[in-house]
Amino acid sequence: MIGDAMATCSFCSQIKDIKAGNPPSDLIAELPTGYLKLNWFQYYHGYCLFVSKIHAEDLDELPRDFADAFMNDMLRCHRAVRVAVEPRKMNVASLGNRDKHVHWHIIPRHANDPMPDVPIWELRQSVRQNKAFRITDTSHLNLIEQIRIQLMR
Ligand SMILES: [Zn+2]
Repeated sequence: MIGDAMATCSFCSQIKDIKAGNPPSDLIAELPTGYLKLNWFQYYHGYCLFVSKIHAEDLDELPRDFADAFMNDMLRCHRAVRVAVEPRKMNVASLGNRDKHVHWHIIPRHANDPMPDVPIWELRQSVRQNKAFRITDTSHLNLIEQIRIQLMR
């Protein structure tokens, strides 16, 4: 049941906190259909998640008009991240195998990428999610601000 899924969904829980006036420090911006957040690990500088305001497991389960607007907002985020961090290439992916709430991974791929020809998930998690790349409440405020500025353009 969707109600049960929402009760245990970490993204729904974060959205509830935002609506209650307690936004997490990784929140970059609220767009009409979703929330742009900085990924907790910044091995890929500028890596963001764009999370749907509506709980659904897959994209085609979203109401059609909402899904169209969600795609449009994702593209806005994609452009803002690209301009903010100037990568060599951008990757975008919607997986949701573990966190079953529709969200986009917006992943800048930079010139120093050790495996530029493959999806980031082929690089060991212990490298991508090394604690040296874990954000703190204040470590990435400049990056968040740079992305916000680009979103407003
Ligand atoms: Zn959810």
